[in-house]
Amino acid sequence: MPTDPYAWIEQSLATIHRANWYRSPQTVEGRPGPVVRIDGREMINFASNDYLGLAGEDRLIQAAVDATQEFGTGTSGSRLLSGHRQLHRQLELAISQLKQTEDALVFSSGYLANLGAVATLAGKRDLILSDQYNHSSLKNGALLSGAKIVEYAHCDMTNLKTLLEQHRQNYRRCLILSDTVFSMDGDICQLPALLDLAEEFSCMLLVDEAHATGVFGATGAGCVEHLGCTGRSLIQMGTLSKALGSLGGYVAGAASVIDLLRNRAPSWVYTTGLSPADTAAALAALAIVRVEPQRRAKLWQNVAYLKQLLWENGNIPISQESQIVCLPVFDAGAVLAADKQLKASGIFAAAVRPPTVPVSRIRITVMATHEPAHIQQLVGALSAINCSDIAIDSQLRTLDRRERLSYEG
Ligand SMILES: *Cc1c(COP(=O)(O)O)cnc(C)c1O
Repeated sequence: MPTDPYAWIEQSLATIHRANWYRSPQTVEGRPGPVVRIDGREMINFASNDYLGLAGEDRLIQAAVDATQEFGTGTSGSRLLSGHRQLHRQLELAISQLKQTEDALVFSSGYLANLGAVATLAGKRDLILSDQYNHSSLKNGALLSGAKIVEYAHCDMTNLKTLLEQHRQNYRRCLILSDTVFSMDGDICQLPALLDLAEEFSCMLLVDEAHATGVFGATGAGCVEHLGCTGRSLIQMGTLSKALGSLGGYVAGAASVIDLLRNRAPSWVYTTGLSPADTAAALAALAIVRVEPQRRAKLWQNVAYLKQLLWENGNIPISQESQIVCLPVFDAGAVLAADKQLKASGIFAAAVRPPTVPVSRIRITVMATHEPAHIQQLVGALSAINCSDIAIDSQLRTLDRRERLSYEG
């Protein structure tokens, strides 16, 4: 008798359940915002990447409605074939203006931007050096490129330099990849050091500004601006789907880089152009980022207030300097229990578990539109959770090992 070739799927799901790693989406009702409705109940939302509160903004909605009226719902083709609209070009010019780059290219998502850019910039004879905590889209872009991939220890510039000394001369081109704000840890890469190493070893550098664009820097241009690296030689990518409240991704850089991507990036050439609604909403968001710096100021005020309350109420030190605050928890079971307790107190936060991250954690994201009372309620709810479940930084390494073991077992 032949065996059932699909039987492994049930077994795989059973393993996921046993490890407490099973996940399913939750339905959020109504418009996105600092307070959302889930299962008919109002919850304070600390699980959103809509950092500036733009995804439910009237001006973005109106821009999307107007563009849909004028241009329809779909672009009906890839950009090179029949799907290119003036709106796309306007958006690309607005992005390159914000980023102070020669040009930019808009993809249908940030994930597709990374797949396309990395796979275009490196090939079989090349080397990719990638931070171990980089986003999945950078990692999969590296795999798609066929290049030799070497991961360096998270934000460890000494390790990166050692690996460059070891491997660089054996390869034709080298591409270094890093998130600027790490999505699941909230810490920030050492951009000036990355740029110096890239220069010294003749490497290209691509940074992922998904969690930085619109949020960091005096004009909201991202960590490249925040860390004083505007105009230096590098390639930036980002998303339209987080602080910009829409959907889509982009790559910004030198005109020649963008020109090559337009000709070679498979995830741009062979996919349908971004919808008029998404394109127009992102354009409206960029205009708001330009003229309303007070939104960024409010976001950073809220982040500072949260850190202050966490310290005063629970002696919990937060070292990250972004709007993403992570509280590591002992294991996947404990993080699920904590998540349940937070939900019962009306708090919606993300319980992140392996394999998304090596160590389970509560991931809290702050928005410009949170009120002080929302933040007070969050800290109150966190203080009620068994404190021994919340690990401190120094315990991270052991935790990492524990969860890895359960992952492998
Ligand atoms: C969300 C994210 C992406 C993907 O962007 P989408 O537009 O959601 O596809 C890429 N990189 C990082 C670091 C992200 O957090």
